[in-house]
Amino acid sequence: MKHKVLSAAQIRSSFIDFFKSKGHEFIPSSPIVPINDQSLLFANAGMNQFKDIFLGLESPHCRRAVNSQKCLRVSGKHNDLEEVGKDTYHHTFFEMLGNWSFDDYFKAEAIEWAWELLTDVWGIEPGRLSATFFAGDKADGLPRDEEAAKLWTKVTSIAADRVLAFGRKDNFWEMGDAGPCGPCSEIHIDLGPDMCDKKGVPGHKCVVNGGCSRFIELWNLVFIQYNRTEDGKLLPLGAKYVDTGAGLERIAAVLQNKKSNYNTDLFMPVIESISRLTGHKYTSKPGNKTDNAFRVIADHIRTLVFAITDGATPSNEGRGYVIRRILRRASRFARELGMHEPFIYRLVPVVADCLSDAFGEIKERADYVSTVIESEEANFGRTLDRGIEIFGDAAERAAQTTKKTISGDDAFQLYDTYGFPLDLTQLMAKERGLKVDTIKFEELMEEQRQRARAAQKSDSLTGAFADVELPVTEDTTKYLADNCDSVIIGWIDSEGFKTEDRIPADTEVGLVLDKTCFYAEAGGQVGDCGIIQSDGGKFIVENTTKVASCVIHKGKMAEGTFDSGEKVRAIVSKDRHATKKNHTATHLLQWALQDVLGKSVSQQGSYVGPDYLRFDFTCPKAPTAEQLRKVESLVREKIAADLPVTWVVIPKEQAQKLGAMALFGEKYRNEVRVVGIGVESENGISEAFSKEFCGGTHVGRLGSIGGFKIIKEESISAGVRRITALTGSALTDYFEKASDIVESLSQMLKVPAEAVTNRVEQLLTENKKLAKELKVAGTSSGPDTMAEAQVLLQQCEKINGAHGFDKLTTSIIVGQISNAPIERAREAVDMLKKKAKSAAIVLGFADGDKVTLLTGVTDDLVKKGLKAGDVVRIIAPIVDGGGGGRPQMAQAGGKNPSKIQDALAKAAEIIKEKLAK
Ligand code: ATP
Ligand code: MG
Repeated sequence: MKHKVLSAAQIRSSFIDFFKSKGHEFIPSSPIVPINDQSLLFANAGMNQFKDIFLGLESPHCRRAVNSQKCLRVSGKHNDLEEVGKDTYHHTFFEMLGNWSFDDYFKAEAIEWAWELLTDVWGIEPGRLSATFFAGDKADGLPRDEEAAKLWTKVTSIAADRVLAFGRKDNFWEMGDAGPCGPCSEIHIDLGPDMCDKKGVPGHKCVVNGGCSRFIELWNLVFIQYNRTEDGKLLPLGAKYVDTGAGLERIAAVLQNKKSNYNTDLFMPVIESISRLTGHKYTSKPGNKTDNAFRVIADHIRTLVFAITDGATPSNEGRGYVIRRILRRASRFARELGMHEPFIYRLVPVVADCLSDAFGEIKERADYVSTVIESEEANFGRTLDRGIEIFGDAAERAAQTTKKTISGDDAFQLYDTYGFPLDLTQLMAKERGLKVDTIKFEELMEEQRQRARAAQKSDSLTGAFADVELPVTEDTTKYLADNCDSVIIGWIDSEGFKTEDRIPADTEVGLVLDKTCFYAEAGGQVGDCGIIQSDGGKFIVENTTKVASCVIHKGKMAEGTFDSGEKVRAIVSKDRHATKKNHTATHLLQWALQDVLGKSVSQQGSYVGPDYLRFDFTCPKAPTAEQLRKVESLVREKIAADLPVTWVVIPKEQAQKLGAMALFGEKYRNEVRVVGIGVESENGISEAFSKEFCGGTHVGRLGSIGGFKIIKEESISAGVRRITALTGSALTDYFEKASDIVESLSQMLKVPAEAVTNRVEQLLTENKKLAKELKVAGTSSGPDTMAEAQVLLQQCEKINGAHGFDKLTTSIIVGQISNAPIERAREAVDMLKKKAKSAAIVLGFADGDKVTLLTGVTDDLVKKGLKAGDVVRIIAPIVDGGGGGRPQMAQAGGKNPSKIQDALAKAAEIIKEKLAK
């Protein structure tokens, strides 16, 4: 082979450098959890981040781009999960190298450059490569891509018989049901006849797109030139785009002369670690059973590291459930390597070492990712082994049925009780040649969802918002003033949006104004409260929310009423000031936490209200008390310096360039608001020490926050901590209360405030000592049970022979003693057992009308069949009672003290009878 041998890192950088030399700008990979796109769970192609450009919604800031995109193909249109482990070139996570033209060059350059890179730069033998182009589609009225067909032989050295036409399935690329699309040209490599995995399959021929692993696709060049409209028509686009994608892992296998992607330097360090940790060997031999487990775990850990780093966390729905499913599959395969304790998390640093040069974020957050994975593994581990057993039973039952299908009920039980995702059950079923009744499973899932829905309380107003077109409210005043003049547009009640009628009294409605200074709940900050009034009426606003661009003031008429079109005054409650203080303090807190704990701190959620602030953030370990004190003092220093707070509205890209912190998964528009601390005017925003994407309300200067204190720090889930803190008057109230408590303690204890702690400590020690003394005193007062028991021992009947020829005599100690606490009576029985060595003891005593019978039997006699529980059960009815216990010690209660002696006599009789046998 004449081609170059390159490491994956060299391949990535030579790809990027090659296209840079052709005038392309490097654009970093977008996060694997798409920031702007709720329609996509995970990035699955390099083009995702450029989608709006193709759709004409956004203009590109460069004409040629190159990138290495983190991709996940585990859900939706592109799902390669089933192939993972079974073949050696489909992964759930992979890197897609790509180059783009935004209405700049087109097919000729795209083809020429791809060929140049593959054959000239990397030196892959042209004879191993084939190219495909679009053959046209009659139904769609799409012509054959003659242009591409011709270009292949014109601008490259490819042999004409290696340029092949394929139909829509293979060579017409579409983003979805509608949207930009176009014909594509794929480059496939021939890995040689040995690599065919369909040898001997009747009718199989090794050809491009022939379904075997001899020919695999390396690179797809898509020529976006149409737009498919909602009604299915294809319209030519005004502009033409090139969108290409090449799998790094596949190219690495080719250039490193490996038969499998797993044998490249992208996977081997992970595979070697798995081998070290499990003691199993990876053989790279087809058909080896444990190899598959290695591949699945090595694949899945990369997915987990990248997805969790970019903000996905295991949960029961959406993205989180995809992550959970992947992790649970990996855990199940870990069992095949004999691993029953969490171990997958230990591979996180290995993946980070392999890939952090290209994606620094995975190293920064590696500790956090490990913590999340470990805790998830431990949780699932608790039910996994039992689940595997349950599955085994279900599979055996299924194997006996004609349909060879695991029932929906079994699959649901595995899901609901043992945490088995459906696809895991399916995978395990497939391994045994079984199917799963997914229809019944879905029915059961739906029933469960309905139960959950019914249990959820519905908000009568929210329902009404759903289908109505609501007016847009102008609400920029919220940043500038606490009151404003407005006009009533209408209101929402449980029936929908209204502009006629009168607002009903005593009913919660949502008032809609033309403009407002009320802040609608968003980004963790609570909605404002306040009043809206006119000469004719007064409305109390209890909360403010937003639906689309309509601000809804929720509350009730307190006096009179309003008509649509009426002028009103909107006045926000003074609580707003407290909320502002808490919001700015939250920004300070995030900054200080990153300063003290490092960049792995990232916001997971927050609550900002007038009463307190709460901030949830990722952090692998609990911060120490000292670190928290440092955080507090950093925040306080800034507050004391009374620095200014300012904000600007700028394009998203510009804000990202400034390094402003954004929230993972949050949807931001093209224009974003950035709040900066520490600079006087918006011109200096880039110098601000804290910069966050934020739509909330803030103080003008830090001094007005008036103080800061963390009152609680706790863990809320694996790797996620929560801080609760106070500022302003809530903090003053808190200190006031604390000081009142100290004051009253100081008076009560008659010591100065500084001495309260010492005094309380002293009192607690004294208290402990007294309690101990009291216990001792209690034991020595009253009748002396021990002495009475001693007497019974001296006077008791002793029998020989209970041990055959053994010299040991057995004491039958039966008698009444004075009333005693039950613990003491038990101690007496224990003492008698010890002293007599071999004994059957029955003590009875009365406390008023209450009788207690206590029986003890030494082990040697228990072995002979004498059981304390049996004795007590027989004699208890004599004193009108009942009871039982262990063979060595049993107890009964009764109500007839006059019969104690009878009961004891009977006991002696039973014992002797039993021992005589
Ligand atoms: P295939 O037919 O092999 O599944 P594809 O047609 O789904 O590939 P594209 O969507 O065109 O692939 O993606 C572009 C490139 O990304 C492919 O040429 C291939 O090199 C790589 N690629 C696609 N899917 C995967 C995957 N699951 N794992 C690794 N690389 C992949
Ligand atoms: Mg595919």
